[in-house]
Amino acid sequence: MSKKVQIVEVGPRDGFQSVKEFIPTETKKKVIDMLVASGCRKIQATSFVNPKVIPQMADAAEVSEYVLKTYPNVSFYALTPNARGVENACDAGFREVSYVISVSPGHNMANVRRTIDESFEGLAAIRQSLPDMKIVLDAATTFGCPFDGKVSIGQVVAYLEKARAIGITTVDLCDTIGIANPLQVRAVLETVCEKFPEIDFGVHIHDTRNMGMANSLAAIECGVTRVSTTVGGMGGCPFAPGASGNTSTEDLVFMLQEMGYDTGIDFAKLLETARFLKENVPANYSGHQMNIAPSQCVMG
Ligand code: ZN
Repeated sequence: MSKKVQIVEVGPRDGFQSVKEFIPTETKKKVIDMLVASGCRKIQATSFVNPKVIPQMADAAEVSEYVLKTYPNVSFYALTPNARGVENACDAGFREVSYVISVSPGHNMANVRRTIDESFEGLAAIRQSLPDMKIVLDAATTFGCPFDGKVSIGQVVAYLEKARAIGITTVDLCDTIGIANPLQVRAVLETVCEKFPEIDFGVHIHDTRNMGMANSLAAIECGVTRVSTTVGGMGGCPFAPGASGNTSTEDLVFMLQEMGYDTGIDFAKLLETARFLKENVPANYSGHQMNIAPSQCVMG
């Protein structure tokens, strides 16, 4: 039996939020339609953030209503930076959210204007008020910070101890600025998997320095089975200067399928989605597969 890797498509959030020009809501829905048709079964559909800060997500409620009603069998979730965001996501019908707290104090302050301890206190209160909401903790800047520089494994461990203390069991380790290297990914994962066996770890890796594939594979070879990517390698991060998009979904899917992993995704349909995006949404794209002529496409 081939090993399964769950691809979490975060393009409709992480990718779209980096685009200045407002993407029509119908285009957002169409991209999600195409992702679902490609076989994506876990999709970060939007984020519930202050629309004054990220106007691109002003249609979060409308997108949510559409996807949750149209695709009851797909696991959609939304990103939330604070209690109000979680409440709005809950009102929109989500039963799962990701909640961002950075491992480095400088990034957390820039991102949500709180210390890390204040953020964990906020998250503990949310867990009490909404006990049925599944929460994925996004550990931003696990591998390095644009403000504080290097992040040590000791800092990551101290952070995860705070998460464990409030009962968090799902964590995505995020390389927010694409600064990780495969050796570091292995070192962090080996440590945290040993120290926190009750936590289910995924990775969310940016491809800023062309190391997204290598870092994602390093994580998978350490036993991680949940990897976040964006179709087309679209994106950036408005709070991490210089960050570019995530690892491209279709590039990773192609590699994993060639290596015998089961992602459940139809590569040809996914590639079509990436090409549709590039034609319709003015973003940065780091994906390689979509630049290959169809005749050279082995699996297309
Ligand atoms: Zn990201």
